[in-house]
Amino acid sequence: MRVLLTGVTGYIGSHAAVEVLAAGHDVVGIDDLSASIIDTRHAIERTAGRKIEFHELDLRDAKGVECILAHADVDAILHFAGRKFVGESVADPIRYYSRNVTASVNLLAAAERHGINNIVFSSSCTVYGDAAELPVTEHSPISPVSPYGKTKAVVEGLLEDLCHAQEATRALALRYFNPIGAHPSGLIGEIPWGTPNNLVPYVMQVASGQRAVLSVFGDDYDTPDGTCIRDYVHVVDIAKAHVLALDAVGRNQFGNRDGFGALNLGTGQGHSVLEVLDACRAATRRPIPHHVVARRPGDAAVIYADPSRAANELGWRAQHDLVTMCADHWNFTRNNAERQASAS
Ligand code: UDP
Repeated sequence: MRVLLTGVTGYIGSHAAVEVLAAGHDVVGIDDLSASIIDTRHAIERTAGRKIEFHELDLRDAKGVECILAHADVDAILHFAGRKFVGESVADPIRYYSRNVTASVNLLAAAERHGINNIVFSSSCTVYGDAAELPVTEHSPISPVSPYGKTKAVVEGLLEDLCHAQEATRALALRYFNPIGAHPSGLIGEIPWGTPNNLVPYVMQVASGQRAVLSVFGDDYDTPDGTCIRDYVHVVDIAKAHVLALDAVGRNQFGNRDGFGALNLGTGQGHSVLEVLDACRAATRRPIPHHVVARRPGDAAVIYADPSRAANELGWRAQHDLVTMCADHWNFTRNNAERQASAS
């Protein structure tokens, strides 16, 4: 297959590109490089030992999208491009609806015109909001709290409607829990843009001496150690799920009658902030100082996945444990201080 990856130089997109290439498919990548660096394209090619076709483009440029899809001759789309920070989305909702929704409408409109019927969408567990029941299943209510989560739910809804309207269209939304880690080669990984918002990228910058101390956002939650619990999952496991998802949409082997489905991608196991910190200390062999500060507004106390549907429908299971995830994340951080500095 020839597969179009939007957001190809981003964190998940770059890991997925490596796995898609390893599975023998060709990659046509798009990224506007607004939150990633072009170096990552070369790192993908080095890691996979193969070249990709690359276009620098903002998906809000409808003519540009049309032009690429008219000529790229692709069989399927993995759509990763978008902004992903809850706090930023609360402060600037227009930016999120524009970058996540308008961009997706352009992409899907061009895909429809050119008969590209197989779509895999990068969604998030934030579509569940404050989950009332744990673990979270795909039948849990969709009730996102932040603009970010709402944009993911809107695009999922659009895909579902498109599958209903067009018999040939099939789409799978993959709802990631908390992806961390990096490719074991140390060549690709997460390059945070400015101050990291997420826990593990921040912890790694404390471990490497770039930042002095981790602020733990609250230790008075109703959890065993008082800190929030999340389902951390290795980014390479997430990337591999996309290769299985491509096969599944191609064979129409999932989802509802219209050809739309959504799957949770998590380990099914929750870890507290302090447990992650301990795993990072073990993986880095650095002390990593922390102090406890006030809760971060909008944080749910506990969320973790029921990943059994992904196991049943794709045969996918997360393979890596927490210490391995932290060790791989550290390996990349340590090897890429220069690339990191260019993004700060
Ligand atoms: N967290 C923290 N300090 C940080 C960043 C995050 O204590 O500097 C906590 C945060 O409150 C949450 C957990 O770590 O409980 C995971 O946060 P992250 O932003 O990585 O993921 P999300 O909130 O999207 O699940």
